[in-house]
Amino acid sequence: MAQAGIHSMVGVVVRKWSPARQWLVLGIVLGSLLPDADNLAVAIATVTGGSTEGLHRTFTHSLFTAAAIVIVFQLIGRFSKRPSWGNLGLGLGIGVVLHALLDLLIWFDGVQLFWPLPLWVNLWAVVTPPEWFSNLMMPMGMFFLALYFGGLIMLAQRQGTDLGRVRSLKVWTAVQTILFLIFLALVYTMESGFMTIFGAIYLLSLGLAAVITVQMRQTIETTAKSPEGFTKTLQT
Ligand SMILES: [Zn+2]
Repeated sequence: MAQAGIHSMVGVVVRKWSPARQWLVLGIVLGSLLPDADNLAVAIATVTGGSTEGLHRTFTHSLFTAAAIVIVFQLIGRFSKRPSWGNLGLGLGIGVVLHALLDLLIWFDGVQLFWPLPLWVNLWAVVTPPEWFSNLMMPMGMFFLALYFGGLIMLAQRQGTDLGRVRSLKVWTAVQTILFLIFLALVYTMESGFMTIFGAIYLLSLGLAAVITVQMRQTIETTAKSPEGFTKTLQT
């Protein structure tokens, strides 16, 4: 399971270089988050006793999927005459590619980058991280989400955007920090059943991060090029 918080923070950071187009950066951050939602498929397969093979880091981490998302959203934007949908799709595609590339670099495992082609790219084929490290990476997922939420709070306060949401976001930051500490203790002490509890909470946290990203879109999309934030100034 990968670090959604890192992926989303990378998405927020790249906004500095992205052109000022409504929903583009929102798409990049969401696209950076969403590929690991394939863990939901893994969870369902596990619960129903099915095979989990080919479910993680495959169809949601593929350059072809990214291209398909861009095309579909461009068409939606065209036909609905709302270019922001096209921007959103372009952002989602960029986000998915960023996520897949970052997984290649930091996740000590392969990615089926050209799914459905059976070609895995793995820069770590000869490296196996020690067990304590692999274990640590699981609770760290919550830690990085807390960092992402905390970063959004700082941005919001600095820019004066989405201030009405800062209070609840502080609560969610605290929740993720506490979850990090709890799972940090459990991952090294629980004999069995850890993955079931952790997997469920992880997927809920991922969904929460997506919801918060959408709620905080004005904060995320406000840059020097668009000082007011799009959601305030433009009609969708
Ligand atoms: Zn991933």
